Amino acid sequence: MKNFLEGVINRNNDKSDMGKVADYIPGLSHANKNHIGICIINSNNEITQAGDTNIKFTIQSISKPLTLMLALLDRGEKYVFSKVGMESTGDAFNSIKKLETGKMRKPFNPMINAGAIEVCSMIKGEDGEKKFKRVLDFFRIISENNTLNINEEVFLGEKETGNRNRAMGYFLKGEGLITGDVEEVLDIYFKQCSIEITAIDLAKIGLFLARGGILSTGERIVSEHIATIAKTLMATCGMYDGSGEFAIKVGIPSKSGVGGGILSVVPGKMGIGVFGPALDTKGNSIAGIAVLEEIAENFKFSIF
Ligand code: GLN
Repeated sequence: MKNFLEGVINRNNDKSDMGKVADYIPGLSHANKNHIGICIINSNNEITQAGDTNIKFTIQSISKPLTLMLALLDRGEKYVFSKVGMESTGDAFNSIKKLETGKMRKPFNPMINAGAIEVCSMIKGEDGEKKFKRVLDFFRIISENNTLNINEEVFLGEKETGNRNRAMGYFLKGEGLITGDVEEVLDIYFKQCSIEITAIDLAKIGLFLARGGILSTGERIVSEHIATIAKTLMATCGMYDGSGEFAIKVGIPSKSGVGGGILSVVPGKMGIGVFGPALDTKGNSIAGIAVLEEIAENFKFSIF
């Protein structure tokens, strides 16, 4: 398996030349475009990795299905989906337009920025810091990595430049969908996006989802149903407006982030973490997708 993964990386690393590292968030632009790594952990906890699996990068939008699970634990399914939909948009991850023009009158799904900001407003806690601490602790538990923390430079950069996200937050408040303090909600969102992880952490989170919400110790953290909601939204909306093509070419529930990571889950079998910071025009790791495509085809991993 290790030889195979090394071969996959060698065959696909030139794809990064066609992509571009995200630079709209200060702090992300220093990433090395040529980094590429993959880690797979199977249900026997056997880890296979190749390439740049120890490089830390920010989780960005991969945080979205994770915080969604915490919101579902905190508030229940009915409440959560009264304020955010379950439908894909076909638009970019940071698109604003359907917030007002869409018939739904709420963000279409929790995997786009507007929906994820809405989800952040649902996290319980006495104040913003305690709410974020609960998010961070939840990420630490499901990645089985107590050392996870935020990259302060990326957080402050997002806070300073995230005016599009800020606009969506205030719009949601205007619609009565966010009831608390918008800046507090945005801080939780910007902080969760700034949590640093590696491809190995992603593979562990993937395995947690593959097991239906159970850690490697056997401890259940979320119900199977909550884990299924997260995986289903990953499969339908996880790669934004590239989700349909990805479902055909790869067919594994996955979530991308502009830090270059992809979290993938082969249900019942394994968690996969991929890292490659050069992105395609939709904000998905270009080499990461190529690597997943080859692996999914070789092992017939498509869930479809
Ligand atoms: N923090 C990023 C943003 O809000 C997350 C986007 C992403 O990873 N697609 O724009």
